[in-house]
Amino acid sequence: MSQARVLVVVETVAGEARPAALELFGAGRPLADRLGGDLVALVAGSGVQAVAGLAGELGADRVLVADDPALAEPVVARVARAVETALAAADPELVLLPATTLGRDLAPLLAGRFRAAHLVNCTRIELEDQAVVATRPVYQDKLLTTVRAPRGRRIFITARSGAFPVPEPQPGRQVSIEPLAVSFTEADQAVTVTRLVEKPKGQTNLESAPVVVVGGRGVGSAENFRLVEELAAAIDGAVGCTRAVSDLGWRPHYEQIGQTGKNVRPKLYLGVGVSGAVQHTVGMRGSDTIVVINRDPNAPLVKMADFAIIGDLFDIVPRLTKRLREV
Ligand code: FAD
Repeated sequence: MSQARVLVVVETVAGEARPAALELFGAGRPLADRLGGDLVALVAGSGVQAVAGLAGELGADRVLVADDPALAEPVVARVARAVETALAAADPELVLLPATTLGRDLAPLLAGRFRAAHLVNCTRIELEDQAVVATRPVYQDKLLTTVRAPRGRRIFITARSGAFPVPEPQPGRQVSIEPLAVSFTEADQAVTVTRLVEKPKGQTNLESAPVVVVGGRGVGSAENFRLVEELAAAIDGAVGCTRAVSDLGWRPHYEQIGQTGKNVRPKLYLGVGVSGAVQHTVGMRGSDTIVVINRDPNAPLVKMADFAIIGDLFDIVPRLTKRLREV
């Protein structure tokens, strides 16, 4: 085992890794190779042995497994304690976290505690002799900035979801899997999660779905979303929504795309009754092909789209779904 250079923090929910956390291996493996040291993974959660095995297959040389019922819930203070314990065990130069809700809380907390640099929401991470240089989109992705943190001290980096590829798993890789005992203080236990809203099982993961069908306020009601669901089902797509829709309670918040929701980069984005406010488009502008159905030819999303169908969605969507089912 050589010296740990990079630690990736594998966030889990209900014993499964968050997809954004698996992308950290795509970012972390090349960095560890360039630094000539180990890629260490911290798998934190409850009932996470299977994730530990996966971390090895995805490129970790050493996996520290903090498997503890206290880590079953995404409470930042407790996961931070697990990361601190892993830092003491591995002493890495770079710490990569996913830019998920939890990762966005964890990274600044830890950077503050260790008085370390924090590179935020990065889409590219390069090594120079004296610094780590990263690319970070700002102003709702209108600009890319280059940020640098001097090397020689620990650096915390959050990686943006969708920016790094998940490596191909290599079953049978030689990897050291070690349990990590974490001690919690009374303060760590002060916050408890009272309710977790579970995504229905079998639902396609929005952030990694190749086809996403998004309904906006134009859909008119929660009941009318049946049209969007049927269209999505006809093309094997995941259903997303705008904030107007999740604020109205027509769809759950976890389906919301945009500045305060999820980022998606599907091969096909199909927007139905979506105007294309900048707070929405910031979360989908990386889509390969954008198709929109809207009765307003001047809607911003119509202007941004590769293909637009101008007309009443209640007329177009059922006919489109029927045709797509036939092909
Ligand atoms: P609308 O803007 O009301 O558009 C509805 C569209 O449907 C219109 O273009 C209309 O022409 C069309 N339409 C209506 N009826 C029909 C019909 N019968 N047939 C065809 N077309 C029809 N929004 C997000 O989506 N995600 C975010 O993360 C987000 N974060 C935000 C953060 C902040 C701080 C703020 C201030 C706002 C945020 N918003 C976000 C809200 C955003 O500004 C817009 O209000 C929202 O995206 C609009 O949603 P919409 O397109 O569904 O609705």
